[in-house]
Amino acid sequence: MFMTKKPFFEANLFGETHAADFLPALPRRAGRKSAARAGKAAAKADNIAADEAADLVSVLVPVPQAEAYSYAVPAAFMPRETPAKTAAAAGNIGPAPLSLPAGTVVRVPLGRRLVAGVIADRAPQKPAAGRLRFVDKIFDCPPLSSELMQFIRFFADYTMTPIGMAARMVLAAPAALEPLPGLPALRWTGAMPAKLTEARRRVLALLPEQPIWTRSGLAHAAGVSAAVIDTLAEQGVFARAHLPPEPVVPAPEADYAAPVLTQKQAEAAEALRRAVRRQQFGVSLLEGVTGSGKTEVYFEAVAEALRQKRQVLVLLPEIALTRQVLARFEKRFGVPPAEWHSGLGPKKREMTWRQIAEGRVRIVAGARSALFLPFTELGLIIVDEEHDPAYKQEERIFYNARDMAVARGRSANIAVILSSATPAVETCVNVLQGRYRHVILPSRFGAGVLPHIGIVDMRQTPPEKGSFLSAPVKAAMAQTLQKNEQSLLFLNRRGYAPLTLCRICGHRFSCPDCTAWLVEHRRQGQLVCHYCGFHRPVPEACPECGTLDHLVPVGPGVERIAEEVKRLFPQARALVLSADTGRTIEHRRAELEAVVSGAVDIIIGTQLVAKGHHFPKMTFVGVVDADIGLNKGDLRAAERSFQLLSQVTGRAGRAIAQSRGLIQTWQPQHPVIKALAAGDGQAFIRREIEERALYSLPPFGQMAAIIVSAENREAAEHYARLLRRKAPESAAIMLLGPAEAPLARRQKRWRFRLLVQADSRSVHIQAFVRAALAAAGPVSAAVRVQVDIDPQSFL
Ligand code: ADP
Ligand code: ZN
Repeated sequence: MFMTKKPFFEANLFGETHAADFLPALPRRAGRKSAARAGKAAAKADNIAADEAADLVSVLVPVPQAEAYSYAVPAAFMPRETPAKTAAAAGNIGPAPLSLPAGTVVRVPLGRRLVAGVIADRAPQKPAAGRLRFVDKIFDCPPLSSELMQFIRFFADYTMTPIGMAARMVLAAPAALEPLPGLPALRWTGAMPAKLTEARRRVLALLPEQPIWTRSGLAHAAGVSAAVIDTLAEQGVFARAHLPPEPVVPAPEADYAAPVLTQKQAEAAEALRRAVRRQQFGVSLLEGVTGSGKTEVYFEAVAEALRQKRQVLVLLPEIALTRQVLARFEKRFGVPPAEWHSGLGPKKREMTWRQIAEGRVRIVAGARSALFLPFTELGLIIVDEEHDPAYKQEERIFYNARDMAVARGRSANIAVILSSATPAVETCVNVLQGRYRHVILPSRFGAGVLPHIGIVDMRQTPPEKGSFLSAPVKAAMAQTLQKNEQSLLFLNRRGYAPLTLCRICGHRFSCPDCTAWLVEHRRQGQLVCHYCGFHRPVPEACPECGTLDHLVPVGPGVERIAEEVKRLFPQARALVLSADTGRTIEHRRAELEAVVSGAVDIIIGTQLVAKGHHFPKMTFVGVVDADIGLNKGDLRAAERSFQLLSQVTGRAGRAIAQSRGLIQTWQPQHPVIKALAAGDGQAFIRREIEERALYSLPPFGQMAAIIVSAENREAAEHYARLLRRKAPESAAIMLLGPAEAPLARRQKRWRFRLLVQADSRSVHIQAFVRAALAAAGPVSAAVRVQVDIDPQSFL
């Protein structure tokens, strides 16, 4: 029964009318340079009068237009035999429609370029007049599955992304659209050499069994020199060939090393296996405290999908950093999963994409963009740490990968598992309203016990002047060190100090291009903007008043805490873990491994350490400043703080029973702090849900943000105001703003925000935004309009 209702974010899009298709195109974005960057490759006399074109196709091309473009198909490209055959096989009489099937990947001329595109799943519109251009080429690539085509359309409609741009996210490895060259090899032609020597005899003896070899492989196997092979090749015994490319990962084994599960784990695993076995759409929330064995349990669902010969996608919030999780896959299935994230080299990327399309890769562990991979036999999607804000992409194309994972699961009609110790409010509401199945792991596995959480009231127990750690935290660290166990100090602020000012004239260092203070990074000797990356060396004199040596850091970042730790515990091995610039993924992975192996005593970390790591020796977690996130003032501030601080304190005591967390705060009465201290997440979330319902906030209501930006402040403000004036009147929708964004300027662009708010999910908020944009008319190239459906950031 629980699947009769749609997940909240789908409420008005699935299977219903596509208002999108009947409305004008999105305003054009700035930057059409790429089109002008002229590829001369496009052929010349390559068009045909529209009324003469017999075979038309609709192609999704990467342009910011709302719909696909029509092209003519050269006769030579038409699949002549296949449709007839299938029709005959199906017992149908009469001609099958003669066209390229939806999902076929083609190359088409676009302006003066040639671009990759996908044959759309909608019939082309025959233009009344004008000339049509021809499809240039059909790539030798498995067509995108109808499930993926459906997902692309849904994604485009929901996130208001031009559909061609959504399709382009699928074609993320252009070189992989053609078969990748394998290893150069030699194939036995069946011919025999003129003369048989002993060496040649040894070579020939191997060939009937295996006719294709690499040159060196064959020489080695026959125990002859490569020159022998070369001579045989000259005599026509071999022709050139290719061995298929190596698999990026060997095939996983479902039952390679299954663990012995506890009773509760076994029940949870069986519930998830059943969901996979159903082979239809359904979402399960796997909820269990940190260290309860969620990963172990969802592996059983993965195994089930493998047994059914289906592919599996596992989304992780920080894939680049989770070496540990990958190693656990390997232990369980004999081989690691294929990885998909921005850190992959181009070669690896192409091979992975291609082999996923060919069905050779069975398990993919990836970041958000893995949602767009061309699986052909997808059977299960898992979203690990589903509450994690990292799933929300907020650049170029705005989307929530957790929600879109559910959407892809729905298109593919398969099981989706969301896993978390602290599920998002949206997910909890889906469970409460019966849309998602709830699978629970109530306690930690083995010796692990949740840490005891204490509160340090900073009003009562302030740290000494010039330091940031209170007496109770320092005492706990000393104790932990004595027991030879690990401490973690958590502060969600990179660098040394978030603000630098001149003590004489009060000058504050800020970014020239953004509304932001420059953050001192002492290790690099730089002042850095965390929004655009602008940086400058820390000067000796104030640029305003010229006074030497009077610049002071204000407030702490992790580097500054590390300095205090060094002072307090000079003998301890301390390590700062944060997503600092200039660090490679490999470097970070090595650092995390050092923590796991116990080569570090004290870790000072940002949210980077909160994500899913298993640090067996960690028994104390100190939160340096719990108030940072609490006062952010957006609708999810409390929820986010609660999730982050639960995750962070949950790093302690995963393998050792006696552990604790201490939270430094100036607001011990805040509901988040009280919930953490009481260990009562349930009550906290229930209260959050009630509040959201009361004020019709998401997921009960809907929101969309419109961000208008331009280098010229007036231009941005003007268009934002125009939008407001032209927006349709609607009783169901409230339009707030425009207001200057809190981050008023970013990368030289002035930003204005409008907020669209609907009281219920039955309103088609996208249609409203489209109508407003259409009414406001085209935007000048200098102005950029971004639409963020279900916004999470209000900066
Ligand atoms: P979660 O994902 O809920 O944080 P994990 O799956 O990481 O929990 O489990 C925590 C630790 O306990 C891991 O080291 C894991 O290998 C171990 N563990 C959990 N369940 C079992 C089990 N049934 N047998 C052996 N080890 C287990
Ligand atoms: Zn900046």
